[in-house]
Amino acid sequence: MNKLKIAIQKSGRLNEDSIGILKSCGIYIDNGKDQLKASASNFPIDVLYLRNSDIPQYLEDGVVDVAIVGENLLIEKEKQVEIVEHLGFSKCKLSLAVPKDVDYPGPEYLQGKKIATSYPNTLKQYLKKNKLEAEIHVISGSVEIAPNIGLADVICDLVSSGSTLFKNGLKEVEEILHSDACLVKGPGLTEESEELLAKLVFRMQAVLRAKRSKYVLMNVPNDKIQEVSNLLPVLKSPTVMPLAIEGWSSLHTVIDEKAFWEVIDKLKGSGAEGILIVPIEKMVL
Ligand code: AMP
Repeated sequence: MNKLKIAIQKSGRLNEDSIGILKSCGIYIDNGKDQLKASASNFPIDVLYLRNSDIPQYLEDGVVDVAIVGENLLIEKEKQVEIVEHLGFSKCKLSLAVPKDVDYPGPEYLQGKKIATSYPNTLKQYLKKNKLEAEIHVISGSVEIAPNIGLADVICDLVSSGSTLFKNGLKEVEEILHSDACLVKGPGLTEESEELLAKLVFRMQAVLRAKRSKYVLMNVPNDKIQEVSNLLPVLKSPTVMPLAIEGWSSLHTVIDEKAFWEVIDKLKGSGAEGILIVPIEKMVL
């Protein structure tokens, strides 16, 4: 039987969430992550645990069909692989940072400076786009200490919360790119592998949609149903069910969680009461 070969990070930031999303898709991986290769009992998939930075090459060479990697890595490795789905975890930015006491005037500050980074290709592209020249020092880790030890004037590194920059007396001055974990596919998948990938993507989309959405229930006076409904940025029109108390209804709907927090005060102002927000397990449209 044909199996889809998927690469995920062996250890590091993406590992746990990558296994987590497969699990949420109902795919249970048999062996522990000490193994290099594992398979699932209930989906035709082989999971290969690989070093993060090697994954784009394995994809391009067709050793694996698909992978979960950070978009930043694909850009840095300049690989011809296709992003099938953004998965929304491991969000980060590739940013430029300078010592916090520098009075940064704008990108022209970078001209002729020494910049330490583990992402030289992405940095080169940024400098070229901005018609700047700088001396790039490639280091593989702990980039944020480079200014303190006199190795560089500027750093170009991944930032998520910004606390590492802060602890090292640096401040972010430019955002070069935004990244999150992506499901990507290599070239030349067979028709059977494409079919399996489509099934996997269908499940992932159902999981991601559910994560972004909430099931909302609220009690609304009957004469306010239209007003409350107009406030809700809903998928379809809400379900309205009569309550045992005369003149009141229960209104049910599914909305994007972020949008919900924006309208909550208006909903209450329009007479909605007893608002319940319930997580959704899977959502198929
Ligand atoms: P790791 O192998 O654990 O260093 O993971 C590296 C990947 O995690 C990067 O390629 C990014 O896609 C992602 N990531 C998310 N936030 C950060 C961060 N603050 N620093 C480094 N990598 C990050």
